[in-house]
Amino acid sequence: VIYLDNNATTPVAPEVLAGMLPWFAERFGNASSLHRLGQESADAVEAARGRLARLVGATAAEIVFNSGATEANNTAIRSAVRAQPDKRRLVTSAVEHPSVLEPLEALERDGYEIVRAPCLSSGRLDLEALLPTIDARCALVSILWANNETGVVNDVQAIGEVCRAQRVPFHVDGVQAAGKLPLRLAGLPIDTCSFSAHKLHGPKGVGALYLRRGHPFEPLLRGGGQEKERRAGTENVPAIVGFGLAAELAAKWLATDGPQRLTALRERLERGLAERCGDVHVHGQDAPRIPNTANVRFGGLSGEALVLLASEEGVALSTGSACASGRHAPSHVLLAMGLAPEEASASVRFSLARGTSEGEIERCLELLPPLVAQLRSLAPQGRG
Ligand code: PMP
Repeated sequence: VIYLDNNATTPVAPEVLAGMLPWFAERFGNASSLHRLGQESADAVEAARGRLARLVGATAAEIVFNSGATEANNTAIRSAVRAQPDKRRLVTSAVEHPSVLEPLEALERDGYEIVRAPCLSSGRLDLEALLPTIDARCALVSILWANNETGVVNDVQAIGEVCRAQRVPFHVDGVQAAGKLPLRLAGLPIDTCSFSAHKLHGPKGVGALYLRRGHPFEPLLRGGGQEKERRAGTENVPAIVGFGLAAELAAKWLATDGPQRLTALRERLERGLAERCGDVHVHGQDAPRIPNTANVRFGGLSGEALVLLASEEGVALSTGSACASGRHAPSHVLLAMGLAPEEASASVRFSLARGTSEGEIERCLELLPPLVAQLRSLAPQGRG
C-alpha cells in the first residue's frame, strides 16, 4: 500500500515498537510502586517526558501525559472555564478539529458565548476579525497550530501576543505541527498545547498536554496522584515510552534536510497531479504549510469516490479528517475557506510522512490520473 494518510495516523516506527516491547511484559511495574519494578517504570516515564519536552522546546515539568490530543483539548477547555468561573466567552476559529469544536458546542448549550473566527480563502485565520474579539471577558482562546486537513500553519505568535496583552489564556492544538515544524514553546506566548503520539510514528491512545509553568490548572480526571495530580490514572508506561522515542526520532529528523526533502516531494506530487489531471487546485498553497500535507481539489468529481477507487489500487488517501469522513458532509474547513459544497466534496487530502519515497509519489502519479479521468467521464455534469 502507498500510504498517504499520515495526518490520520502514522505507522509506529520500528525503533519505537522495539523500545516499547519490554514494558508490556518483563518490565510491567506500576510507576507509582516503591519497589524496583515500579521505579524502573517511573524512570522510563520521566525519560519520555524529557524527550517530548526537547521536541517541543518546553521543560519536562510542563508535560502532562494523557490518552491523546482529544483528552488534551477537552482538558484545556474545561480547565480554563473552571479556573475562571466569571468569564463566559471563549474564542476559537471555524476550522478547528472536532475535539475542540464539540466541547465548545457543549459549553454553548450551557450558556457560554463561543466566538468562531473566520478564515481567509488562503486557509489562514482572518486575524483582523479574530484579534478584536480577544478581551478581558474571554476565558480562553483556542487555535489550531497547523490544520489537519490543509496543513496551513497559523500565526500563533501574533495571536498569543494579543492574548498576553489582554491576560487571556491561550490554548493551541499542536498535534499536526509537532514533528513537522521546529517548535519552541518556551519562547512563545502559549499557555497550553496538545500533542498526540500516533501522528508522529508513536502508538495510538497516548498524548500530552503542555502546561506552562505556573499556569492555573484544573485537572479533568481526578483520582490517584499521577502526573503530579494533573492527570489521574495509572500511567500507560509502554505507550509513554513509545511517545518519548517517537519524539526523539522526530527531533533528529527535523535537524536534517528531511523537511526540505519532504516539501520537495509534496511539490512534485502537486505539480504532477496538475500536469496529468488538469483542473486541479491545491488548497492553502499560498499560505505557510507543514511540509507533508496537500489538499487537492479535482474539478468535476467526487473526492470520496476517488478515495475509494484509489484504495482499490493500493493508494490510501482521505477526503479530510478521518474523524469527520464517516459523516459524508463536505469539510467544514474547506467551506470556511469559501469553497462551494460541491468544490469541497471534490477534494482529497494527501498526507505524506518522512518515510514516503520518491518511487511512491511517482507510482501515485501513474495510478491516479486514469482514475480521475474515469470519474470525470461518469460525473453528472457530463464532463468529457
Ligand atoms: N487535533 C488534531 C489537529 C488532530 O489532527 C487530531 C487527530 N485527528 C486530534 C486533535 C485528536 O488526536 P487524538 O487522536 O490523539 O485524540
